[in-house]
Amino acid sequence: MKVSFPHMGTSHIAFKQFIERLGHEPIVPPTPSKKTLSYGVQYSPEFACIPFKVLMGTYVEVLEKGAEMIISSGGHGPCRAGLYGMLHEKILKDAGYDFEMIILDAPLKNPKDFISKINRIIKPNKVGWYRFIQEFKFGWAKLKVLDMVEAYSHKIRPYEVTKGQTTRSFIKTLTLIAQAQTSEELENARRQGIKLLDEVEQDRSRKPLKVGIIGEIYVVIEPFMNFDIQVLLGEMGVETHRSIYLTQWTKDNAAKGKGELDVIACAPPYLNQKVGGHGIISIGETVIYAKNGYDGVIQLAPFTCIPEIVAKSIIPQITKDYGIPVLSLTIDEQTAKTGVQTRLEAFIDLMLHQRSVKGGGKSHEVRLGS
Ligand code: SF4
Repeated sequence: MKVSFPHMGTSHIAFKQFIERLGHEPIVPPTPSKKTLSYGVQYSPEFACIPFKVLMGTYVEVLEKGAEMIISSGGHGPCRAGLYGMLHEKILKDAGYDFEMIILDAPLKNPKDFISKINRIIKPNKVGWYRFIQEFKFGWAKLKVLDMVEAYSHKIRPYEVTKGQTTRSFIKTLTLIAQAQTSEELENARRQGIKLLDEVEQDRSRKPLKVGIIGEIYVVIEPFMNFDIQVLLGEMGVETHRSIYLTQWTKDNAAKGKGELDVIACAPPYLNQKVGGHGIISIGETVIYAKNGYDGVIQLAPFTCIPEIVAKSIIPQITKDYGIPVLSLTIDEQTAKTGVQTRLEAFIDLMLHQRSVKGGGKSHEVRLGS
């Protein structure tokens, strides 16, 4: 069977192999592009948030490539995320596409439903549960390595002497990880990848600005949605950190089913209850970044995303209490990279000013447009 899935950062590398090893033909979703977005806009309700539209566009692209099954994750909470998959399926089937949609929710939410959906995936090729679990473990390990090397690349990039060198090493690392077929090969790929990144020529005398990235999961993880903001900032000499990575999020939400409890615990007194999506997480993370001495926080919010709108309205109080500047970027299909870049440059100026007022290190080298 031809099986596909959403595009989210580098995760397609692990998902492709996972699907292949279950005996299916993977239809790898193309990296989202303007074409993806235009399909998404065409098939989605106008008021839908942008992650919905980009996922819709991706599904159209993979269905056009012949996908017969799409595997996606479910959502929960008071916002629209819980209805995403169901709506995508209905709209696409009404448009004439013939396919099966498998929406996987947290196993503990409804174990019977989860088991029957996994059976739909593995039974056609007579794959047993034991083999499925082994393949899942390997796929999970690969996802973890992908997240780990990406996070590492964001630490190296602001120190690179030659612009783009970190990204080139990172791309080589992704190829090594993609090729790994066994746990030993995966561990070797991880080690070689770290070595490649360590070999990037660096100027360690710099004291880069440190910025935390918060917001809705899809716009935070998928570079197309956020104009590759971490690479953009890294190449401007800013060190970024984001706490949402696919494996961490899945562990907290799908496996444990309780969410990021440590982050949620930091949200009060600013926010005491969940407001859907990542609203409470955005608040908790802003507090954590402020307490850890970050120079600023950037919130990535899809246009009309209620949880992020709620967070945005609360954040000024955190800024007031902790003195941490926060830039909120609202993203929709009209958002342009040049506009984002201009706002980032102004934000960097603000953080540098704030740092000089506080008497912090002045050796941050801003490499605007270089
Ligand atoms: S979290 Fe925001 S962007 Fe995501 S589904 Fe909910 S409202 Fe839409």
